[in-house]
Amino acid sequence: LRCVVAVDGPSGSGKSTVSRRLARRLDARYLDTGAMYRALTWAVLQAGVDLTDPDGIAKVAVDCELLIMTDPEHPSISVNGENVDAPIRGGEVTAAVSAVSAVPFVRQVLTARQRAIIEESDRIVVEGRDIGTVVAPDADLKVFLTASSAERARRRSAETAGDHAATEADLARRDHLDSTRKVNPLQQAADAVVLDSTELGIDEVVSELYRLLTT
Ligand code: C5P
Repeated sequence: LRCVVAVDGPSGSGKSTVSRRLARRLDARYLDTGAMYRALTWAVLQAGVDLTDPDGIAKVAVDCELLIMTDPEHPSISVNGENVDAPIRGGEVTAAVSAVSAVPFVRQVLTARQRAIIEESDRIVVEGRDIGTVVAPDADLKVFLTASSAERARRRSAETAGDHAATEADLARRDHLDSTRKVNPLQQAADAVVLDSTELGIDEVVSELYRLLTT
C-alpha cells in the first residue's frame, strides 16, 4: 500500500520529531525538506555567493550535488560528498535560509528532487512548508502542525542551547519571511488536519496521526 504523509507548519511546531516518529511507526521513509534548503544555503555561503544574487544562487543549485538519506533512524545530508548535518543547523545557515528558499528557481529544483524521492518510496512522511500545497498535493494525509510561539521558541532554544528571547525573535523573523514570500509560501492546505502540539503534546500528535491513517 503506497502512503504519502505531508507534514507542514512553522519552525519549532514539532514537525521533525512528529514526522520521524510517525515514519518509524509506519516503517516508512522520512524526508526533511528543510534540510535540503539548509544544505543548499550552506553551499551558497561556501561559494561566497551574495544572498541578493538570485542568478548566483541558482547556479549553485544546479551545480551542487545534494544527497539526502531518508532513514528515520539516521537522517543525514551531504553536499558534494561532504556531510553537512552539523553546519546546516548553525546560526549562519539559519539566518540565510529564508532568503535562499525564496528564490523561485531554487524551489523548482528542490521540489523536483523531492517529488522524485516521494515517487520512488512506498511509504514516506515528508515535512516542510509547502508539501501539502505544492510538493505532494495528492498526499494521503496532510497535517498542519502548529504550536504557540512561546512554546515553539522554548523547544528551539532547548535544542540549540540558545538564548530564549533571541530564538523567539529569530523564529518570528523566519516565519514572517516564509509566510510572505511570493513563491510557495508556508500555507495550510485546504484539506489538512490542523493539530496544535502545544495542547496535545508530541506523543499524542503521533498517535492521532497514526489513528487517522490506519482507521
Ligand atoms: O524546517 P526547517 O526549519 O529546517 O526549514 C528551514 C527553512 O527552509 C525554512 O525556514 C524555510 O525558509 C525553508 N523551507 C522551505 N520549504 C520547505 C522546507 C523548508 O522554504 N518545504
